[in-house]
Amino acid sequence: MTTPLLGQMMDVPLTVSSLLAHAARHFGDTEIVSRRIEGDVHRYTYRDCEKRAKQLAQALIALGVEPGERVATLAWNGYRHLEAYYGTPGFGAVCHTINPRLFPDQIAYIVNHADDAYVLFDTTFAALVDCLAPQCPKVRGWIALADAAHLPKMQTPVLSYETLVAAQDGNYAWPPLDERQASYLCYTSGTTGNPKGALYSHRSTVLHAFGASLPDAMSLSARDSVLPVVPMFHVNAWGIPHAAPLTGAKLVFPGKDLDGKSLYELMENERVTYSAGVPTVWLGLLNYLREAGVRFSSLNRTVIGGSACPPAMLRTFQDEYGVEVIHAWGMTEMSPLGTLSKLTWEQSQRSPDEQRKLREKQGHVLYGVDMKIVGDDGRDLPWDGVAFGDLHVRGPWVIDRYFRKDDSPLVDGWFPTGDVATIDQDSFLHITDRSKDVIKSGGEWISSIDIENVAIAHPAVAEAACIACAHPKWTERPLLVVVKRAAFDVTREELLAFYDGKVAKWWIPDDVVFVDELPHTATGKLQKLKLRDLFRDHVLPSALADEKDCPLARGNPV
Ligand code: AMP
Repeated sequence: MTTPLLGQMMDVPLTVSSLLAHAARHFGDTEIVSRRIEGDVHRYTYRDCEKRAKQLAQALIALGVEPGERVATLAWNGYRHLEAYYGTPGFGAVCHTINPRLFPDQIAYIVNHADDAYVLFDTTFAALVDCLAPQCPKVRGWIALADAAHLPKMQTPVLSYETLVAAQDGNYAWPPLDERQASYLCYTSGTTGNPKGALYSHRSTVLHAFGASLPDAMSLSARDSVLPVVPMFHVNAWGIPHAAPLTGAKLVFPGKDLDGKSLYELMENERVTYSAGVPTVWLGLLNYLREAGVRFSSLNRTVIGGSACPPAMLRTFQDEYGVEVIHAWGMTEMSPLGTLSKLTWEQSQRSPDEQRKLREKQGHVLYGVDMKIVGDDGRDLPWDGVAFGDLHVRGPWVIDRYFRKDDSPLVDGWFPTGDVATIDQDSFLHITDRSKDVIKSGGEWISSIDIENVAIAHPAVAEAACIACAHPKWTERPLLVVVKRAAFDVTREELLAFYDGKVAKWWIPDDVVFVDELPHTATGKLQKLKLRDLFRDHVLPSALADEKDCPLARGNPV
């Protein structure tokens, strides 16, 4: 066998510290602005940030944290959190971001499962930490992201982040690491069972940052001022804390206030051009714009993902406010970016209606992700925009196995996402459901997301969820659960009539129920499992009619 001829380029490892080092050296004066828990707006530069991240690394090393150990964060988007993003993996430890909106028991499970050595927390979470500390005896210290004067009164003994950092001089060189070493640990939301950990590597994080920055992805640049609304405790804020220093974009962190007014004011004050978040947050922002009669003066594009972006929201942003919406799909197990709805030149020559339909889908994959849809028999399904199948992915920033789990989740080398989708001739992905949420009516599948999108386009509907309801003849039929917009009214019949001509007749829900609110997960997604439980005994009017023909309805014993 002949020896392969190796390339003769530098073998520089792809480490996350190199991203911040690049920004500090080449965009040293670019600002990072944060609305703080303390109530003021803090501003400093990438140069300052790198120095303090190095001081943090020195402080953690002085506390005895070893490379490979996990240091957790329970924090909002802010400059100290960013320092933890770099100061921890920068010396080889792992930054473990925890979602504070999870139930305390789940958080305790996660801290113990990850075996976190220290936990850095924003003082808003002081009560939560007091509740967690007794359940997490292996944590060696709880570090409040505050100076000594702002330490909250707590039962748990805590350290002051600022005191620890101030004790170090920042005279520290990021060590060279193996790029396959772990960088970040993110747990899934755990809607069923315990959350599972996705352990990213330096290499996967840096490659993902490159991918995320591409023109047909997040398209970030040194001319942007970017405000990630998506939390840094949820899948690394979709990679923005890495893509921003890579491209030299200014960063603006909103802290804990994510209401429409707070976000709008910060966007205007900091000339924000670019933002990213889940649909629920944008609902609040759009409501505020409407009520206050104000417009954006600098925001020109925003990424919406995490759950399906309702077409009505896409239209409002684009048609009323001139803001380009980039619909994105991904997941914790994918670092998270998979697809984005940017059009090719040819697609942008099509009719406005056709273009809109494409943008409503989740879009085209990035280089670095490959995808396919498969049927129940595991065979590939056609990319015709019609065939629904289980979506599988693979690539250098896709999970290989879960943290501290031996069994591989992969099927033939692909990761099954648990999403159901179509892919069309344009290679555009359209997520129709989570596999466990899809409605199986008479052997055919109905997309609950499509049904919800129609409902949300009705002016009287604030939020809608479509779930499967037992049916004697069809096994399952769609039930629509709706929250009305304040001061608006609509009847069941009016809503059902609203579907005429918008979806196939047999997709129209069999019933509508109005509720005051819908249950959400810790990451703002509809909690359909809980809804299905709540409506387990709901009897569809159509089921009553059909029951006469089929006495085994609704799980009646045989
Ligand atoms: P998470 O790991 O918490 O980020 O959740 C990932 C899941 O959110 C995906 O597997 C999808 O089910 C859902 N999701 C993310 N983005 C979208 C989107 N644009 N449209 C529909 N579902 C989405």
